[in-house]
Amino acid sequence: MPDGQYLDPEIETADLARVRELQDARLGKQLDYLFARSPFYQEKFEAAGIRREHLRSLADLVRVPFTTKEELRESQAASPPLGRHMAAEMAAVIRIHASTGTTGQPSLVGVTRRDAEIWTRVTARSFYTQGIRPTDIVMHGASLTLFAGGLPVKDALEHLGATFVPVGTGASEKLVMIARTLGANALHCTPSYAAYLADHVRREARMDPRELGFKKIVCGAEPGAGIPAVRARLEQAWGARVTEGLGNADMIPIIFAECPNQSGMHYNGQEYVYIEIIEPESGEVLPIESGVSGELVYTSLERECVPLVRFRTRDRVNILGTSCRCGRTGFKLRCVGRTDDMLILLGVNVFPSAVKDVVSSFSPRTTGEMQILLDEPGPGVRPPLKVVAEFGEPGADLAVLRREVESKIRAVLSVSSAVELVPPGTLPRFEMKGRLVRKLYEG
Ligand SMILES: [Zn+2]
Repeated sequence: MPDGQYLDPEIETADLARVRELQDARLGKQLDYLFARSPFYQEKFEAAGIRREHLRSLADLVRVPFTTKEELRESQAASPPLGRHMAAEMAAVIRIHASTGTTGQPSLVGVTRRDAEIWTRVTARSFYTQGIRPTDIVMHGASLTLFAGGLPVKDALEHLGATFVPVGTGASEKLVMIARTLGANALHCTPSYAAYLADHVRREARMDPRELGFKKIVCGAEPGAGIPAVRARLEQAWGARVTEGLGNADMIPIIFAECPNQSGMHYNGQEYVYIEIIEPESGEVLPIESGVSGELVYTSLERECVPLVRFRTRDRVNILGTSCRCGRTGFKLRCVGRTDDMLILLGVNVFPSAVKDVVSSFSPRTTGEMQILLDEPGPGVRPPLKVVAEFGEPGADLAVLRREVESKIRAVLSVSSAVELVPPGTLPRFEMKGRLVRKLYEG
């Protein structure tokens, strides 16, 4: 039973040169496999004039064109069930998941037994990094469906020896009842649900959420728990430490996770996924150092069913550090949103999560709930940015509050805004991922 500071100390605290060596060796094997078994990459490499001998180490990867989600969709549509990027026999596949946030045909992802073991290993390492231990009782306030934040989380939490309680969403009353009976001390869910549940507990159970006794809240699937003012609000409401994780259904469900120092999510899957950060427009590879902002790109180092090379995630991240008091050597980042979420006002880039941070920072004068209204498709937005936010306290001087929020948005984000304040409870609450933007043009 693990009880130290790390689940896999050898890799989590490994010297970076040693990690690189290990990754180079694993990339070689993965490429041999791809050249032999993946019709998708055989064609892609051929089209780019790349032969196996051209790719001798990680440094050569820059020659390989990126793989996009659109390509995977087309590959799957043209060659069912899992696409031409499937490199294993269907008989070897033990489970299917799907990536979320899509309309229409879901994008399916298969895992072999070996892939599943790796998912479990890295995801467990991530939860352990977040402070989950075998003695913890974890309420799972998310679904156990095709969603990669469901069953793989069950596997990981059971693997590390914690007690997993699959309540799901849409069952808040039951969750509260069972958590009390069990004396559960941890909650896994989206940050939207952690906020929703706190409201529910106050309103329906007429309890202070702190009385439930959650000490560890582990979040994922959307930015939120890493937005400073949102995190502060959740921690205040629950009396718990809130940390977040980040992964990708096409790669591994949780690859980055925050340690209790809460200073960004550590890169946690060194032996299985190689990371690049790129400038999204030019595709230029950026150095991994504090202050760098770009798009996350993943390359599988050991994957049987659907290995991917230079897969563009569309996740926009900021690098926060390359060392930590916890001793982990994996660099740290924060995800500010999807590249597609970004808005541009007179040349200034704005992520909705950053607006949420400003609005939440006025808590308790605001509830923290807000939505950006878009009259026409982005990313270009004609100023001012329209923001609807809930005020928190009745009787407050709303004209003053509105001006203060607008001026802080201008000071922090360098854009002008028009804030409309509405009563608490007006905006929709979400039990899975929240929606920070309302597209008026979609009706
Ligand atoms: Zn750390």
